[in-house]
Amino acid sequence: MARNILRKSFYKSPAQLRLMIEPGKATGAALAAMKREIKVGMTTLELDAIAEQAIRDLGGEPNFMLEPGYRHTICASVNEHVVHGIPNDRPLEPGDMVSLDVGAIIKGWNGDAAITVVLPDPERPERTERQQKLSQVTHDAMWHGIAQLAHGTHLNEVGDAIAKHVRKVSDFGIVEDYIGHGIGRKMHEAPPVFNYPVNFAGPEIKPGLCVAIEPIISEGRPETIVLDDDWTVAMADGKMSCQWEQTVAVHKDGIWVLTAEDGGAAGLKPFGITPVPIA
Ligand code: MG
Repeated sequence: MARNILRKSFYKSPAQLRLMIEPGKATGAALAAMKREIKVGMTTLELDAIAEQAIRDLGGEPNFMLEPGYRHTICASVNEHVVHGIPNDRPLEPGDMVSLDVGAIIKGWNGDAAITVVLPDPERPERTERQQKLSQVTHDAMWHGIAQLAHGTHLNEVGDAIAKHVRKVSDFGIVEDYIGHGIGRKMHEAPPVFNYPVNFAGPEIKPGLCVAIEPIISEGRPETIVLDDDWTVAMADGKMSCQWEQTVAVHKDGIWVLTAEDGGAAGLKPFGITPVPIA
């Protein structure tokens, strides 16, 4: 009989949470380096090399490369591409909206995070404004979800918080085909982290919980398709989408955003929450 994997706890010990600090930092450093360097004319393959260097400089290895069949450090999803975009040699243009997703592994433990960057187009200010709003709503929805880990009792309240914010400030869609996840020795592990309300409570929020929170918000309908390269996911209606992601640990003294350079201090400030480093 197969072993019941659900019986294995996904809550981490304090020592295990400490092992997630370094890969979190390397992941955050890769995102920071790309954010610093990205500009019109640059290619996503060049950004891929920048991210790889940042991870290796901190003693890490890009964990996306360990996925069977994938050869890059980042996924770069531009405009109507949602997630899993493959870096390529097309120079970025004004008006591109670029989601950059990256992860690092150090000593067998993983980090996973994503940002979105809007490259303004002075000739299409209305497009730039729409992109900036989509990115802002997604970014803020992610922080609403993260904040819920600081005062919530069950994990699915994260999805409630994300959806409540999106619906309050926009008429955007919430993509349901891809969700957040537990993270540790594996980049993707239990438990699932929904970005929308579901009709069960989910696991308890308590010390040892470590999850990647990654809402994907769409300008139009939330349905997605997979392109012919068998990787890239696009919006079915061809409109734009956006993703932000952080890896967050719940520990006995509070929460700590492992993939944010400031532990989440800036993002959590509007909620009156101060992140606490893992001791
Ligand atoms: Mg992820």
